[in-house]
Amino acid sequence: MQVKVAKFGGSSLADAAQFRRVKSIIQADEGRLFVVPSAPGKRTYTDEKITDLLFQCHALAEAGEHFEHVFDIIAQRYIDIAHELNLKLDIRRYLQTIWHELKQGTSSDYAASRGEFLNGLLLAEYLGFTFVDAAEVVRFEQNGTFDPAMTQTLMQEKLLGRKNIVVPGYYGAIEDGSIKVFPRGGADISGAVVARGVNADLYENWTDVSGFLMADPRIVKDPKPIRIITYTELRELAYMGANVLHEHSIFPVRLACIPINIRNTYAPEEEGTLIVPDTEGKPLQGRLTGIAGRAGFTVIAVAKDGMHSEIGFGYKVLSVLKKHGVSFEHIPTGIDTMSVVIEEKELIGKRKALIDDLMVESESDCITVYDNLALIATVGRGMVRHIGIAAKLFTALADAGINIRMIDQGSSELNIIVGVESDELEPAVRAIYEAFK
Ligand code: ASP
Repeated sequence: MQVKVAKFGGSSLADAAQFRRVKSIIQADEGRLFVVPSAPGKRTYTDEKITDLLFQCHALAEAGEHFEHVFDIIAQRYIDIAHELNLKLDIRRYLQTIWHELKQGTSSDYAASRGEFLNGLLLAEYLGFTFVDAAEVVRFEQNGTFDPAMTQTLMQEKLLGRKNIVVPGYYGAIEDGSIKVFPRGGADISGAVVARGVNADLYENWTDVSGFLMADPRIVKDPKPIRIITYTELRELAYMGANVLHEHSIFPVRLACIPINIRNTYAPEEEGTLIVPDTEGKPLQGRLTGIAGRAGFTVIAVAKDGMHSEIGFGYKVLSVLKKHGVSFEHIPTGIDTMSVVIEEKELIGKRKALIDDLMVESESDCITVYDNLALIATVGRGMVRHIGIAAKLFTALADAGINIRMIDQGSSELNIIVGVESDELEPAVRAIYEAFK
């Protein structure tokens, strides 16, 4: 039997009806031995997430203001879930403790974490599983940074080989017991950490969509879903702005080579997207895994006759960037020019001084700055060693009347990046998608 860790996002556990869906998902596969819940999310578009409400309570309490009206909303949501599901847990007692802690000036981390804590208690009873407090198995260092090594030890000690366990997501504790939370959305990280901790065969991340799409649906109409994607491809797309899993939530499972399956609580029959280690990146049907793009880049082109034969020219240019604390994205070069592509926001307040310094340090003949560049990454492990991919891409852009201002292809051949004018970002993504879909 495959051991699976199933993490459920806030919308998947927003009310009693959702709890029922989750239960039938868990019962449909006996390998789903570990469950990691988020706090209840929005039930409707205008609804509020419990975590947001908890942060509000804490802010009000800290300012010495009344927070009872917000706390009541939180309390009612849990009471409703417990009531509708006929649960025996004395949820009011737990709520009272939290209310009391807020009154006493508890930390905002403690307050925020209670959303997952309470949901975990309710879900454990509803599933007939054992509740294990994340504070016992997820460890943070004294300075608040996550401690992966100690967490792994604790998980192995307390969870390995067990079954039917609920560990709430999003938080853990420092050695002295004080609660710490991951960044917002961090229940994904908890799920990954538990999957690694119990040596799971699969990390299932249940959400409200059936996985990732090949392109942003706001740009491309009905893009196809991505069935299988490798960790590296995912990183490339995430970096270019695709709305996929946060890197921190991928890292623990990637390290342990555990695949992640993004699934839809509303459509459990759909297979979703499977994120696999690079070595298992099964061949693609087509050549394209996904496309993502972002606007807001600037190119600084440093020109100097004979640059190509001058030893240390690139070093001088990059040293100036380092001196000004500016990071760069790409460095396309020609015989006599070296261009650096930089995110516009990196240059705020530094632009003039940086260019003046570049002029002096590199002794260049001319420096030209182009703004409004958008970068588009066309990503696909199926591109490797296939002739004609670049040609197809450039033809698609040419046919759409789009001028390419920059090209970059890494030697891994996984990704072709093109730079276009910012206002041509969307037509360019559409043209590429149509050519490869
Ligand atoms: N409940 C937390 C948040 O809203 C963590 C999570 O749901 O992933 O950010």
